[in-house]
Amino acid sequence: MAVVVAVVVVLGPLYVPGQNGPMAHRKREAAHIPQEKTCASCGRRMEWRAKWADNWAEVRYCSADCRRRGVNPVDRELEARILALLSARAVTSTICPSDAARAVGGEDWRALMEPARRAARRLVDSGEVQITQGGSVVDPSTAKGPIRIRKIQ
Ligand SMILES: [Zn+2]
Repeated sequence: MAVVVAVVVVLGPLYVPGQNGPMAHRKREAAHIPQEKTCASCGRRMEWRAKWADNWAEVRYCSADCRRRGVNPVDRELEARILALLSARAVTSTICPSDAARAVGGEDWRALMEPARRAARRLVDSGEVQITQGGSVVDPSTAKGPIRIRKIQ
């Protein structure tokens, strides 16, 4: 018993920074923030807000705009087209959101560019695709500029 106590005493101070330092404090705070969610409409990660504390389980959209918009039939078509275009190609190849926008929108494809990017982000959330820039997988929530879409590898 004396040996065990001695070991605890010797090791004890080593663990104090981990238990009481700034890192431990952040960990404790994080434990109170519920699991991360992705907006069902735009596919972006939702930043936790205190006003959601009471109904976090029901929260599906990041904003009033996204709640109004939801996911419409064209959005679903874009998702399906992205997956169809990808499955028609080699596993390692990528498509541009504009490929899906053109396939669905025809001459009005430009209006579907942002919807196509939203569709791609939702597909990342459902684990079906990755979004890349310069060949590297990027965070769909923060990626700016042109993106490519590929199957999960
Ligand atoms: Zn949203």
